[in-house]
Order: sequence, then C-alpha cells, then structure tokens
Amino acid sequence: MSESDENRSEPDESPPPPKGPVPTDAMGGVERPAPGPLDPLAAERFSTLEVVGHNSRDLIIVLDDEGTIIYGNPVAQELFGLTPEVGVGANALDFVHPEDAPRVAEHFEELLTTPGASVRDTIRALKANGEIRELEIVSTNSFDHPLVRGVVINGRDVTQRNLYHSQLEMLEERFRLAFEENMAPMSFADHDDHILAVNDAFCQMTGYGREELLGRDSTLFTFPEDFGITEESHRRAVTGDLDHVRYVKRYRCKDGRVIVVEISRAPARDAEGNIIYFVFSERDITEERALTAQLSRQALQDPLTGLANRTLFEDRLLQAHARVVRRGGLGAVFLMDLDDFKGVNDTYGHVVGDELLRSIGRRLEGLTRSSDTLCRFGGDEFLYLAEELTDAREVDALAERILNALNEPFDIAGASLTQRASLGAAVWDSSRQDTSALIQDADVALYEAKRLGRGRYVTFTPTMHNEAANRFTLIQELAQAEARGELAMYFQPLIELATGSIRGFEALMRWRHPTRGMVPPDVFIPLAEQNHLIVELGAFAIREALAAAASFDGAGDGDAPYVSVNLSARQFHDPHLVASISSALEESGVAPRRLVLEVTETVALTDVSQTRLVMSQLHRLGIGVALDDFGTGFSSLSYLVHLRPRIIKIDQSFVRPTSRGPESDAILELIILLGRKLNMTMVAEGVETAEQLERLRSFECEYGQGFFWSPAVPLDEVSNFFRSGAVTVN
Ligand code: C2E
Ligand code: CA
Ligand code: CA
Repeated sequence: MSESDENRSEPDESPPPPKGPVPTDAMGGVERPAPGPLDPLAAERFSTLEVVGHNSRDLIIVLDDEGTIIYGNPVAQELFGLTPEVGVGANALDFVHPEDAPRVAEHFEELLTTPGASVRDTIRALKANGEIRELEIVSTNSFDHPLVRGVVINGRDVTQRNLYHSQLEMLEERFRLAFEENMAPMSFADHDDHILAVNDAFCQMTGYGREELLGRDSTLFTFPEDFGITEESHRRAVTGDLDHVRYVKRYRCKDGRVIVVEISRAPARDAEGNIIYFVFSERDITEERALTAQLSRQALQDPLTGLANRTLFEDRLLQAHARVVRRGGLGAVFLMDLDDFKGVNDTYGHVVGDELLRSIGRRLEGLTRSSDTLCRFGGDEFLYLAEELTDAREVDALAERILNALNEPFDIAGASLTQRASLGAAVWDSSRQDTSALIQDADVALYEAKRLGRGRYVTFTPTMHNEAANRFTLIQELAQAEARGELAMYFQPLIELATGSIRGFEALMRWRHPTRGMVPPDVFIPLAEQNHLIVELGAFAIREALAAAASFDGAGDGDAPYVSVNLSARQFHDPHLVASISSALEESGVAPRRLVLEVTETVALTDVSQTRLVMSQLHRLGIGVALDDFGTGFSSLSYLVHLRPRIIKIDQSFVRPTSRGPESDAILELIILLGRKLNMTMVAEGVETAEQLERLRSFECEYGQGFFWSPAVPLDEVSNFFRSGAVTVN
C-alpha cells in the first residue's frame, strides 16, 4: 500500500497528531501520522473539496489570488513533499520549472480576471527532491465558488506517459530506418499478399521499382513454377501458430535472371489475433546454393576430367551389385591403365598430359550407356562399371570397345598423340557375395595384361589372385636375397666376329632361390622395378660387374675385356646415377672405358632431353652406352641420331627370326648398315647356330653374343675362357 493510498483511506480532519510513540491499529499495522490539511484553519473551508481531493488519483491544489498554496490533496502532498512546514503559504510558482514559470504566471493572471474560466497546460513541476515531473494541468478560477474561493488546479502526472510516447516515436523511427536502410530485402504485404511497402534492398534484388511493386502480389516476380510455394507459405502463416514461416523459392528478376531466395514470412496480428499484415525478410541464396552444389559435386567428382571419383564409383558399384544380384545377368568392372603415360608428361609437359587425360575421359564417356559409370581412379587409371551384360562375350566386346576408343590419335596442342592402354576386368554375377574385392581383382587382371605385353585386355580369374599373392611373397623374399647371398652376377662373353676373340662380358643377374631354384631375371627384375628394390639390385650389379672387370686385368691377350651392365628405367632416371657410378668406378680402379651400360629403347625414350643429358655426362666420363633390344621398341631414327649410343644391340628376334626369308634378311642387313653409317658398334644378340653366325658375318656385323659361344656363367668359370685362350669362332 503506497503512502498516498494509506492517506486516502484515512481521511482525517483533526489537527496533526501529537508526536510520541507510534500507536498500532487494530490490524496490527503501523499507524502512520496522517498528513492533515496544510492549514488547520482551512480545513473546514475545504472539507467537501477534501473528500473529493482525498480520493482523487489526480493532483489537486487550491491557490489564493496571490498564487499561494492553500490546499493540496495527498497526491500533491506526495508529489511536492508538502507538509505543514513546507508548502503552506508557499507560492505555487516555486514548484514550477523556471522555464515554465513565466508562462504559468501569465496564465494565472489571466485566469484571475474571469471567474469560472479554465486554462489547460502542460508544465514541468519540480518535486521537493529536485526531480522534474511533467504535469498536465487544468486551472479553474473558482473564486465565485462559495466553498473554494480560489484557483483550483487539477493536474495529472504525465511524465511516464510522455516518456513512453517519445520512446514509441523513437521506436517507430528506428523501425522505419531498420526497414528502409536494411541491407536485407524486406517487404510488407496485406492479408491478401498485396505489397504495402518494400525497401531499397528489395527493389535492388528484384530489379523492380517501388511504384511497380506496390499494390501487386508476388506473382509479378515469382518464378512461375514456384507459385504454389507462395500459396503454401500463405496458408501455413494463416493457419499455423508459428510467429514466422520460412521457405525457399525462385524469383524471376525484372531482367529475366532467376535467383533463389530464402524468405521469412512473419504475420503481424491485432489484439484479437487477426492478421493485419505480413512482414517478409528475404535473402538471395543463389550463390550460396551454387557453392554448396559445387562442393558436393567436388566431393564426388574428379576435378580434372569431371568424371565420377572413387567415392562415387564405389557407391555406384554397391548399387549395381545389388541390382545384378536381384535381376541376374553380369556386371563388370574394367580398370584401364595408360601405357607409358609418364612419357607424355615428361615429353610434352603436364598441361598436355592433363588435356590428354580429359580427351580420353571424353572418348570413354562416348561409350557409356545410362547405367554405366566412368571414373578417373587417379593418375592415369580409369574405371568403367557396366551392368546388364548377358554373357562373357558381351564383356569381351565392351572391353574391345574401351581399348579401341584409344585407336585414333589425340590431337592436343598441335601434336598428334597415340596413347595405348592395358585393361583388366572383374566380372560378377548374382552368386557373388560382395563387391569389396572387385576393383582389386580388376587390378590383378590389369597387372596380368601388362605382363603379357601392354595394349591388352585380361579378365580376372581366381588363379591370378594366387599369382598376385605369389608375386607378393616373391618381392618379400627378393628384398632379403642379397643379404642372404642368393644373388650373383653371371657373365656371358661378347665375341668379335672377325677374330673370334672375347671383347667383353655382359653381366646378367641370377637369383638362386632356396626352394624355387633359379628364378630368371625376367621374373624378378620387373618385380623389383615396381619399387625401390631395383635401385639396390642395380647397385649390386654394378659393384659385382666392376669387381669382375678388375679381375680380368692382365687376363687374356690384348686389351682387358669390358663389362656391360643392364640398367632399368628407374635406375637410369635416378638423379644420383652418374655420381654413384663414377664413385663405384673409382673404388674398383677399373678404367671408365671398360664399362658399358645397357638401356632399352623404351627407357631411353621416356624422357628424351633428360636421357640425352645423362648420356652426354656418361660419355664425358668415358663410359659407353648400349641401346639394348634394338628394334623392339618404338624408336624412330631421329631419336637414334639424337641419343648417339656408342653400341647398338640387335634384338634376338632379328638374329633368330621365327621364319627366315628374304625379308628378315633384308631387315637385319639394314639395321647393321644403319649402325655402320651412324658409326655405332653393332652387337647381335642370341646367336645360337653357325648358320646365324654366317649370316651376320655376311652382313658385316662386328660383334655377337649367344649360346653358340656360351651362356652366362659364374665368375669362377670365366677364367676358363682365358685359360683356353679366347673363344674361337668357327
Ligand atoms: P637382356 O639384357 O636382353 O639379356 C640377354 C638375355 O638373353 C639374357 O637372359 C641371356 O641369358 C639371354 N641369352 C643370351 N644369349 C642367348 C641365346 O643364344 N639364346 C637365348 N635364347 N637367350 C640368350 P637373362 O639372363 O635371363 O636376362 C633376361 C633379362 O633380364 C635381360 O635381358 C635383362 O633385360 C634383364 N637383366 C638381367 N640381369 C639384369 C641386371 O643386372 N639388371 C637389370 N636391370 N636387368 C637385368
Ligand atoms: Ca642386356
Ligand atoms: Ca637384350
């Protein structure tokens, strides 16, 4: 209970109560001394007025013609802190803000002239504690009233109300600014969705001017297919009890552009809950959507070719597998690997290499049916998934088509590139339990295809799996072969055909496997080439060959024979090759001219400019280079001229043709002639019979190698050759 309420409930006309102990009332509450009339003498005069004043929520004071306060009701007493000491006899102007005082005084003077007249004003009153309150007052000249005989001022404290009003105004201004200046497009629409207001951002987004939009509904700029979304959102906003409804729809801007917009529709309701209007705030999410779409595409797409990536492929494979199991028929996974793709990158650069991959992707895409999936598996590998195949013949036919897609050369950056590939396939039918090993099986088949000589197609069979496992154990064992003393170099003499004397030895590696017996280098060298093992084996070969060469010193007659060591591609492209060979030479004390390194054409052609550099470095050191297996690769004559190997080793297939005839003779003769013209030393490989030897001699080939003289033998048997005084030629 406020003090004024208490006052009002206890009208008291008696003189101020005596000071002393505070009595308690019947209710046990504290009985406050009621502030009585200001002037005890006036009490009687105002008794009626007081009854009214006491119960009024408004302020009531009565002034005499001087402006002196002669009565104040409890509200006035509370407001101005009026007590018999303060206020009685005080001039009312003392309680008026100095700025308002002159006006109030003027009004008062005017008022005195006309009995019964009233003046309305809003003034700032000063509270006893200095606080300013705003009062709306009505002053009435009641001098002619027998009971009052004064100016009655009726006032109401409107401070709070005015404050509230100005806040409301501020709020409205703020809201107007928030709407108009908002970066987010906003609009208002009536209950029927007719636009009442739009902000600049909205006009900018849609391209429509304000005057074009007002009064219209959103069909003006909504993408026609999305009209239904507008209706649905309206329905939800009207029927639902949410304070806003969110949805996404497409807008067609004035310039025809289609954008995606996220919209929040909030209904504004009156006190009865009826919708008066809708506030829409919107966001153009076109770019955001595009980005998300791009990101999710990226997650499933190979960025270079735009084909499916591994993740997507594996997902499609699972689905395809399930369908085949359900419907029957065959499914197939083809894994394609480009042969010597590294050569393209090295020769033409990565830009051309990338373009070639894209072109291959496009060609393969031309083969796909809607149920097929094509994937770039990484690097130069592609996966092709097909289902609904009826039998093995269809699988073979598709494999052919895939390989044949590369038949035509690719025209890239002005160059015409021929790219071949190997293909491995894994086929499944409804009996196959799971897909997890399918890609791996295709990979095993691919390996087999490459092993059989690239450009081929092989379908996986379970035995291949055993072979793959076998290869794996073999590699493990090979890694320990050197340490276990299972490796050795064998030496095959190289004969000068004219004299029959030994001019050198080719060092050939042998692996004496504890259980498998002699493992031929054709088997283990390609395995070692798949990893770093070949570098270790290569170093072993060079070390052993040089040690042998050192032991030949002073043996036989004439110049000490040279040693020829085979280098694999990986070794030849090893940047440390020249340095490690020259230090091995130094260690052995063997003269560089007694060392020959054999590389195959394919090795030499992988990176022509780098090959030339290494060749010239070796040449400067005095080390000879032989081009091995000549005639089996893709050598062009211009490469031969470029690389200038000192020695050419004519491949066995020319020396021992499957069917001898005038043509094979002509080819052999031409190769020998070519070498002579280019001033290179020609060595015929694989000579087995006297007849073959005779033929070579007739074509004036200088050197030969082969079982006709000797196979490769261990080092301790080499000394026999010297003891017997060179191998003689019949
Ligand atoms: P390649 O360099 O062409 O070696 C010649 C191969 O022909 C040798 O087989 C040799 O034994 C065989 N051969 C020699 N004369 C005759 C003949 O009259 N008739 C027949 N049918 N064959 C003959 P091998 O020793 O089995 O070596 C096979 C291949 O393994 C070599 O071919 C070479 O490419 C590779 N290789 C051998 N040793 C090494 C090595 O230490 N390092 C590297 N990187 N490769 C090696
Ligand atoms: Ca060789
Ligand atoms: Ca050879």
